[in-house]
Amino acid sequence: MITGTVLLSFTVCEREAWLIAHQIEPEQSNPFIEIGRLIHTESYRKNQIREIALPGIKIDMIYSQGQVTVVGEIKKSSKFLKGARLQLLYYLSELKKRGVHAAGKIMIPKEKKQIDINLDDQGIKDLNQAIENVEKLISLPKIPQKIRNAFCTKCGYEQFCWS
Ligand code: SF4
Repeated sequence: MITGTVLLSFTVCEREAWLIAHQIEPEQSNPFIEIGRLIHTESYRKNQIREIALPGIKIDMIYSQGQVTVVGEIKKSSKFLKGARLQLLYYLSELKKRGVHAAGKIMIPKEKKQIDINLDDQGIKDLNQAIENVEKLISLPKIPQKIRNAFCTKCGYEQFCWS
């Protein structure tokens, strides 16, 4: 199943994207997953945080800014911005299908950064291309080969792949 998280993972490691899409759970006690959870729960408390979960969507934060509905995606760092952009574009697209027109913001509290993401023509084109690529990947009957990368030590599947 394609989800925002699968799209994000696809830009980091195809094997991870395949595992998530096939609902093989990562190791929940991985300290980097814990840190991510903490940043999500401790950041932006002053804003109206409303986590929303729909099929394929887990929105960290949604709030109104004047007339605009803003969807916020909280990240630990700006390392994986390409994937975070696709993830947010996917959420904006799924919300649009449900009649909600929203703008997106990638929020990186540790770096005090906020990056605007919009579902404009380029965004739609990039999202459709990424979905097509991910569909091809997850339809593969076998798990992709493991290839060591800089993210492995922080990945929830590290034990699965390398022990
Ligand atoms: S541990 Fe490395 S190879 Fe395995 S899924 Fe994670 S990032 Fe990919």
